[in-house]
Amino acid sequence: MDWAPIRKPPEVRARANLRDYATACRDFDWTTARSAVSGLPGGGLNIAYEAVDRHAEGPRAGQAALRWIDTAGGVTEFTYADLAERTNRFAAMVRDLGVRQGERVFTLLGRVPDLYVAVLGSLKAGCVVSPLFSAFGPEPVRQRLALGEATVLVTTSSLYRRKVRPIRDRVPSLRHVLLSGAAGEGDPPALDPLLAASSPEAQIARTAPEDPALLHFTSGTTGAPKGALHVHDAVVAHHVTAAYALDLRAGDMFWCTADPGWVTGTSYGLIAPLTHGATLVSDEGDFEAHRWYRVLEQQRVTVWYTAPTALRMLMRHGGLADRYDLSALRFIASVGEPLNPEVVVWGEEALGLPVHDNWWQTETGAIMISNFAGEDIRPGSMGRPLPGIETGLLRRGPDGRALVTEGRVQQVTEPGEDGELALRPGWPSMFRAYWNEPGRYAKTFADGWYLSGDVARRDADGYYWFVGRADDVIKSAGHLVGPFEVESTLLAHPAVAEAGVIGKPDPVAGELVKAFVALNPGHDATSELASEILAFGRRALGAVAPKEIEFATQLPHTRSGKVMRRLLKARELNLPEGDLSTLETADAAR
Ligand code: ATP
Ligand code: MG
Repeated sequence: MDWAPIRKPPEVRARANLRDYATACRDFDWTTARSAVSGLPGGGLNIAYEAVDRHAEGPRAGQAALRWIDTAGGVTEFTYADLAERTNRFAAMVRDLGVRQGERVFTLLGRVPDLYVAVLGSLKAGCVVSPLFSAFGPEPVRQRLALGEATVLVTTSSLYRRKVRPIRDRVPSLRHVLLSGAAGEGDPPALDPLLAASSPEAQIARTAPEDPALLHFTSGTTGAPKGALHVHDAVVAHHVTAAYALDLRAGDMFWCTADPGWVTGTSYGLIAPLTHGATLVSDEGDFEAHRWYRVLEQQRVTVWYTAPTALRMLMRHGGLADRYDLSALRFIASVGEPLNPEVVVWGEEALGLPVHDNWWQTETGAIMISNFAGEDIRPGSMGRPLPGIETGLLRRGPDGRALVTEGRVQQVTEPGEDGELALRPGWPSMFRAYWNEPGRYAKTFADGWYLSGDVARRDADGYYWFVGRADDVIKSAGHLVGPFEVESTLLAHPAVAEAGVIGKPDPVAGELVKAFVALNPGHDATSELASEILAFGRRALGAVAPKEIEFATQLPHTRSGKVMRRLLKARELNLPEGDLSTLETADAAR
């Protein structure tokens, strides 16, 4: 199905940070872009200084840096000056504990203010910080603490008892556990008294741009999670890409719904809005349609960065958006999974603004491909490369990955041809290592390109279209199809709420396309409906339409919201289920 482009009216273009794509690309270079950050007084670069102190020393000192909504709905505000002081104390405390620059501080916290303080305070101390998603169980926590050789962990009493105490003696590097909030009998020390006793004066470590800063684990969609290491220089890319791809600017009320346990929640849910002098909205609570609309309305959110799963759920709730005043919203963006065109268009109808899809990865540290505020949207497309980002599509071999012959790769040239999406390294937030896995890191490069593992197509105007994961693409009766294309088609059927598609070995076709489908409320999982959906798929997709359909009450998701197709496949074929550390536990029981 072809979707008409969404045209941007002149007044929308005129106010956008990126008004003219061709000019922005032509004029861009990373050296000049670097002037967006101030650097430490006296030399060096530290993300936390760019995010907090630079503003706290100036006219923004009294402006809200963080508006935090607790689970009960109460709102607490922290100014840039508040944040500067508490992060100073945190950095001083870490140093007083004898923790040295470069050592790893982990957090295992819900979205509470101390999470933001611990991340920024650790950066000030020159430590490498790794925020973990608080819903991880003990084993995933242990894996990551051990892989990253954690020295310090900041968590809460309840999370400590349930998830850390059982594994603590298996992480020998872990010298200090500190508790946000109250500490009970027999618990490790509480953070508050330690912070109160520490110096409020700034003594930011003189980190250099290439010093390590952030350790982020990938979502584990395709296998065991990898720890991607980023350096302080990444802040240049966080800042610039937020301006271009999220249209972010000083004074915005910015809500990124991703948890800082994922790279989106740190690059854009923490660092970028602060470097811009915006106010960051953080909601401790989980997704609930009314709650989310209330946050948008009550906080007067201007820029909203969220994910396809959440948008699809809001879409299922029909006209709910009409009951809320969303007039403050200026820009909506989505990341993490393919965004089906229905959602882009629904945004315009129900929320008053179309949704801008963008693409990037834990490894890239910042948005690489995007739809822009001042440019037309092609629904279903991820958009075009950011200024300063060189992308390529590489010809693929039989394993689905880029074909490397004697060290060389070949780019596909024809519009519409698919290839492995590759990026030319050189932007500041590019990862510098998979922590303690040099072999795995080296394998992601060939012939001067970083190989993303995703397959895409490019149209004649340079817009990129997601096809699938390179090792996910299904070969059925001589045809190649990405699960996403099939899923996207099925989503257009009114009964289908969500779809996960896999290739299943078949003696005749090579692989047969099988779809797992969750239904919208009001539809029953009958064989008539199954036949109807299969016929619907055949009409739209022809030869690559699903031949089998199975209804499921829900599909397995990673905790960052992606459909875990490898698990659907493993279960279908009775293969080992592999690393399930990032599986959303509600899905774990079938
Ligand atoms: P792992 O690398 O551990 O298998 P992961 O790749 O899902 O997990 P992330 O780095 O969190 O881990 O996610 C990046 C991936 O998410 C991309 O490579 C891509 O497959 C998918 N993705 C992100 N944004 C989009 C988008 N706009 N459209 C389609 N896919 C997207
Ligand atoms: Mg990945």
